[in-house]
Amino acid sequence: MSVTEMTRAVRGSNSATQQMMLEAAAATRLLESEGILDYSGHVSTRIPERDAFVIQIGSTSRAEVTPESMLVVDYDGKVLEGDGQPPSELPIHLEILRARPDVQSVLHSHMELAIAFTMMEGVKLLPMRARASRWKSGIPTDPDPSHIKLPEQGRALARTLGPHHAVLMRAHGLCLVAESLRALFVDAVHFKENATAQMQALQAGAKPLPLTEAEIAQIEKMEMRDWHIKKLWNYYVRKGLKEGVLPEWGEGLIPSREMLTRDKTY
Ligand SMILES: [Zn+2]
Repeated sequence: MSVTEMTRAVRGSNSATQQMMLEAAAATRLLESEGILDYSGHVSTRIPERDAFVIQIGSTSRAEVTPESMLVVDYDGKVLEGDGQPPSELPIHLEILRARPDVQSVLHSHMELAIAFTMMEGVKLLPMRARASRWKSGIPTDPDPSHIKLPEQGRALARTLGPHHAVLMRAHGLCLVAESLRALFVDAVHFKENATAQMQALQAGAKPLPLTEAEIAQIEKMEMRDWHIKKLWNYYVRKGLKEGVLPEWGEGLIPSREMLTRDKTY
């Protein structure tokens, strides 16, 4: 679809809504391409200055979503814009977004590597790699292994998540939360890397050595989260365009040269 056609498809929405639809469609395709989403899973993101959020039509392939595959949904779960039904696990997004005003975006994924950590006695997923300092407060596991289709299940999941940035779901999947959709995408990449690292240590028959508190403090001293998010978003959007994962409507998501200038140097 051309940029003009895409703009026509979402006409009637304000520009913040259009931007979130565009970002959510691109993030979904990129997450699918990176093996973080597959035939299931979804992202949601709040629309700035609007009492609603964006989420995809549940039945649309994660590999083929476009901005017009996105719905605008209010915090009672009512579809305000778009032609289709939200995913059946909408209560995950509704209840986490309601419970966490600090969160802008939510990912629900059935990432196999992460699920494995809910199925091993005596093994917990821990921050191993430097970027996993993001999850230093802990990664709790919700005990409900079924699909989250009821409001009370969503509320229970949001309670398990508590103030953390990640929650595993027993034999089912995980949720990540972040301050923006771009940050959520980058967190998802690092979450998978970290689970891979711990699994590799276990498969080597070694005892995993997670980051210590002192190491996490040192990592955080050197951290430039905003810059890092821009850098990785730039990399993955460009890679997606080059490999055909993103159609030409993704071109508008490449950060400008100014955006890619660091405000701090070491
Ligand atoms: Zn699920």
